[in-house]
Amino acid sequence: MPRIYDSLNNAHDYCADCFPSEEESFQELGALGDGPDGRGNCYGWDAEHPPYEEEDYKCVSCGATLEEKDNDLYLTKFRGM
Ligand SMILES: [Zn+2]
Repeated sequence: MPRIYDSLNNAHDYCADCFPSEEESFQELGALGDGPDGRGNCYGWDAEHPPYEEEDYKCVSCGATLEEKDNDLYLTKFRGM
């Protein structure tokens, strides 16, 4: 699940190589301000996202097209599964 929401509620999707750790991403995206409509800080690491194979999602860092194998990135990268 390589999607991160910044504190403004914008989605950031990453490929396996670029997905940052929770600590790294929070420093970059976790305190940009609050989201719209009084929602407060919307930051979320490893958030839910649509299946990447169904639309043309790209990594925000390197521009690689995200595929089905990227859907479970969190498990493979951070839990060794
Ligand atoms: Zn990338």
